[in-house]
Amino acid sequence: MSKTYTGSCLCGSVTFEAAGLSDIWYCHCKQCQKLTGLYISAAGAPRENIKITGDVNWLPISEMSESGHCPKCGAYMFWSMHDRPNMSVLTGCLDDSSGLEVKGHIYVEEKAAHYEITDGLPQFEGYPEQGTRST
Ligand SMILES: [Zn+2]
Ligand SMILES: [Zn+2]
Repeated sequence: MSKTYTGSCLCGSVTFEAAGLSDIWYCHCKQCQKLTGLYISAAGAPRENIKITGDVNWLPISEMSESGHCPKCGAYMFWSMHDRPNMSVLTGCLDDSSGLEVKGHIYVEEKAAHYEITDGLPQFEGYPEQGTRST
């Protein structure tokens, strides 16, 4: 019953369809900062629900995770942790994100110093499953 979202990179070489996306999280970890310049907005779905068309350049972030980019325009599109059934889509790549709900902020303990989080959404030091709410 869930909506299927479509998306693409900036140049359109990589497109995708994602069914059952949920739970947008803003991740403030250092890895996301280094990759994008600030924090990321990502929504997860089971790997098999995300159908990608076009070549994705998968780059290692750490031993546990990798990021998926368009090889032509460099857009950061996907985030995947090897041992998790879910994969994340960077919501900026979605054609239309309406219907998705933002759950909160994760890895706020690694947040850069030059901005404050002022939207009142829940904040977690790490991952919400194991992390402790900091506010
Ligand atoms: Zn592209
Ligand atoms: Zn992050």
